[in-house]
Amino acid sequence: MRTRWNLWDIYGVAWISVIAGFMLYYSTISLSEKELRAMLVSLLIFLIMILLLVTFIIFKRKRRLERAGARRIIKWCMIIYTCFIAFLFIPTPPYGDSGSCKMGTYGLKSEIEKTDASSQQGSESLIRVKESVKGNNVEYTVYDICMGKLKNTVKRDGKVSPIKIEIIDSRALTEQLKEEIRSFGIDDVGIAELKPEYVYSKDVNGRAVSLSHRYAIVMGKGVAHRLAGPAAPLPYQDSYSSLPEELAAYLSGLEFKTNSAIPDDIAKDIKETMEFFSEGGATAVQLAEHIRAMGYPARAHFNRWSEVQLVPLAILAGLGEVGKNGMIINSKFGPRGTFAVVTTDLPLLPDTPVDLGVKEFCAVCNKCSRTCPVQAIPYGGTIIKNGVEKWAVDSDKCWAHLSKNLKCMSCISSCPYNKQDYAVHRAAGFMIKRKNVVTNYLIAKLDDFLGYSSHLKDYSKL
Ligand code: SF4
Ligand code: SF4
Repeated sequence: MRTRWNLWDIYGVAWISVIAGFMLYYSTISLSEKELRAMLVSLLIFLIMILLLVTFIIFKRKRRLERAGARRIIKWCMIIYTCFIAFLFIPTPPYGDSGSCKMGTYGLKSEIEKTDASSQQGSESLIRVKESVKGNNVEYTVYDICMGKLKNTVKRDGKVSPIKIEIIDSRALTEQLKEEIRSFGIDDVGIAELKPEYVYSKDVNGRAVSLSHRYAIVMGKGVAHRLAGPAAPLPYQDSYSSLPEELAAYLSGLEFKTNSAIPDDIAKDIKETMEFFSEGGATAVQLAEHIRAMGYPARAHFNRWSEVQLVPLAILAGLGEVGKNGMIINSKFGPRGTFAVVTTDLPLLPDTPVDLGVKEFCAVCNKCSRTCPVQAIPYGGTIIKNGVEKWAVDSDKCWAHLSKNLKCMSCISSCPYNKQDYAVHRAAGFMIKRKNVVTNYLIAKLDDFLGYSSHLKDYSKL
């Protein structure tokens, strides 16, 4: 007798096949991207789906699922399953919301106080690092990396060409400029309107800042993923950041002694990042020069020499949202961003802030809070400080710890957004954007389960 397939049977088989297809796709692509954890998980789910499909077909052929009870079970399983999957895509109400302001820049109050760049925390540590590399002629010194190449600072601004190019189409100009900037190796670029509150009152040397440009071109590049974790397999020594002097020497082609070999692909990846750290200023300087040659004023801002606040400008320019750890979370490079800015009067088209669902995800994640050795990152909701809604990281606690433990990067290293720009992580980012509390919880737990931050201690349990 022929097997009779009813609507629920076909529906069930279709669902299982779709999931199996997706899992096969992700396992193949993860294999090509060498993301082994994702590859294993998707392969496992694929095999389970195939097993389920084969079992279902065998049972069906043997007519074991024809009884009314069995058919009812299949029907209700499929209804519950469909509702559950659909629910994972539906936004749930926000929690931890402390008012009308949104994360970072939306709905800012106008009376934001200006900040003095010379009083920023961490200056003492950087001075100490500067002294520690005195006389060192390695091309990429730790000081270079932390501070940018000194030679660029004198070229941040300059004479504007008297011949002004007339701009007819701001949109086309903006698109063309962005394309050119990306060709410099910049991962993400956006335009923000430069509001006066984002200009420092004083620069890093304590001099009053005078800057009235209309726009800020914000350029972001992700730090090499391997550097964004204290457990990265590099020959560490005590030095600022994750870059030891030995590695700096290696990247400069100098001889040095080490027990750990650095594979070429990793060295290339790190070198690119270091060049932006060290030469990100150069990129901004070059761009500012180019704009001045078009007849419009432009000034480069980078590292400690920035006269503008990078975080709010990066948010306004659509480069990401602020996470609980206080870092800009970008859709491509997560919290590992380093930014440079050019302010100008060139008539550009500003971008709008992006909504990646970071706030909702952070509310259930708390990994940075748990792994911070001094518990400087809050577990609870946001507060409104100086007109900006944010999580209040205890910067005094953080810097007190950092000044003695210069490599502390737990809050970046543990962050589930701290992944390479791979298909499976983009899929997780897509789901996080749905802003569903259960989806977010499952993703955070999966991140734990797969041991992405198992090298870090959970200080909340101590
Ligand atoms: S840098 Fe270290 S001490 Fe500071 S907030 Fe991050 S984890 Fe905590
Ligand atoms: S670790 Fe979690 S809570 Fe902290 S910034 Fe990253 S996503 Fe947000």
